[in-house]
Amino acid sequence: MTPGVKPLVAGNWKMNGLRASLGVLEEMAAGYNSVMQARLDMLVCLPHTLLALAAESGSEAVKIGGQDCHTGESGAHTGDISAAMIRDTGATAVIVGHSERRTDHGESSQTVKQKAEAGLEAGLMTIVCIGETQGEREAGETLAVLENQLSGSMPDDPKADSVVVAYEPVWAIGTGLVPSSDDVADAHKFMRDWLTNRFGNEGEAMRLLYGGSVKPSNAGELVAVPNVDGALVGGASLKAEDFLGICAAYNNLT
Ligand code: PEP
Repeated sequence: MTPGVKPLVAGNWKMNGLRASLGVLEEMAAGYNSVMQARLDMLVCLPHTLLALAAESGSEAVKIGGQDCHTGESGAHTGDISAAMIRDTGATAVIVGHSERRTDHGESSQTVKQKAEAGLEAGLMTIVCIGETQGEREAGETLAVLENQLSGSMPDDPKADSVVVAYEPVWAIGTGLVPSSDDVADAHKFMRDWLTNRFGNEGEAMRLLYGGSVKPSNAGELVAVPNVDGALVGGASLKAEDFLGICAAYNNLT
């Protein structure tokens, strides 16, 4: 944890969830009691189809976000959604640069940066994802990859209260594999130093999340790692009990 920083536990439902799944958000809101709310922020990033419904019917406490946005504000981009549209649903955040976007849709860091700028312009808290592949880790290139992705993907003038960086090793996403605490600590220290050198106080106070197979059973170990200010959670955010179990690790710490 970074001293003075309120942790953020963010869920990413990916391409999961129908209207009937919104009850899960109600369960999360019920479990996220007033004590927890004072100690950590909870956000769930939903498929676009559920954003307006969730933002309108959900509790104020559990924030709602999108999982991607277009670089532009409007125009001839069939099937895309702009940051302004996401904001218009009542959602307050967006993920950009998730590895599944980088891989499945060939998104470059340059595109991710434009998306991050679009998210901020629309008034959304923007989570920028970075992380190495297994091959890059085995080749000893992890920190070089993080540096490249940070310098290519970060917006020009980020503020600590509206930009979050998520370190998500690609090989840990959805696999049950998690890097050692020492490896997470090295990556997050590297990110913190890079962000502080580049953006000064804003980089020093920016929230850095770890993502990749976070579960209630390993959340306790991860919260203890310096510079890990929360989690980005895929699979375990689909069940209220698991997600709240992860939040509890942050609740107990502070
Ligand atoms: C993710 O996709 O952002 C993620 C962290 O997934 P999971 O928790 O399922 O590994």
